[in-house]
Order: sequence, then C-alpha cells, then structure tokens
Amino acid sequence: MKDVIFDDFQNSVNECLLRHRSILDILTKYQESQAKVNRAVAKAITNCGCIKLSAEKQHLPEEYDSEDTSIRKLSECLKSHMEGNLCENCREVIEREMGNNIFYLTSLCNVLDLNLYDILIKEYDKINTLGKFNLR
Ligand SMILES: [Zn+2]
Repeated sequence: MKDVIFDDFQNSVNECLLRHRSILDILTKYQESQAKVNRAVAKAITNCGCIKLSAEKQHLPEEYDSEDTSIRKLSECLKSHMEGNLCENCREVIEREMGNNIFYLTSLCNVLDLNLYDILIKEYDKINTLGKFNLR
C-alpha cells in the first residue's frame, strides 16, 4: 500500500505546475533549484557565518582489524568539514530551497510517470539490504 501523503503530494504538485509543463522546463528548473540549495548553504557560511567551512584532506585510518572496526573507524575519521549550527533564518531559507527542489523532482516524476514513493521505498530497501556496504 502506497503512502497516502506522498501520493497526495505528488498529485498536488501536478495540479500546481501550470507554467513549466515541458520536460525541458522541469529539468532546468530542477537543476536551478539545486543550485539555489547550494547557494543558500554557501550564504550561511559567507553572509551569515552561523556555519563555518574548515576543509582539509580526509585522513583514512591506517589499520584495518575486522570489517566492523574498519567501517566504524572510517565514519569516525571522515569529516563533514563543517563547524557550527544553522541559525533559524538560514535553516528556514535552506528548507524552503530544498522544498522547491523536491517540488521539481516530483514534477519530473509526474512527467515521466514515476511514483516518488516507489523511488523512496526502493532506495530505502537498497540501504537496508546493503547496509554498511552501501558506501557513498
Ligand atoms: Zn545563519
């Protein structure tokens, strides 16, 4: 049974999308909305300063004991290169841009006759099946 909220959201997106019905418009709006997410994160660093970027080379653990240990050590050693926490304003802006991005992803699903919830479930199953071996 499909999730009602996801399907309702997908239908609502379909009804809201009037101007940019062409797949070309949807693809480019989707890409543009992704760029706006990245821009909002960058502005949280450069304009607001609530989060800071502190990047350096990732240092991998040298010793690999058992499989579990090495995976655990790997996640402990690899850094996000980010310091601080989003302020309320930046969080709001980033959430809004991510929502816009999801809107165009859903629009892309609609025009290609794909179900957003099915995609989420397939990805969820892949993560649960492969677990820690699903390294990304
Ligand atoms: Zn901020």
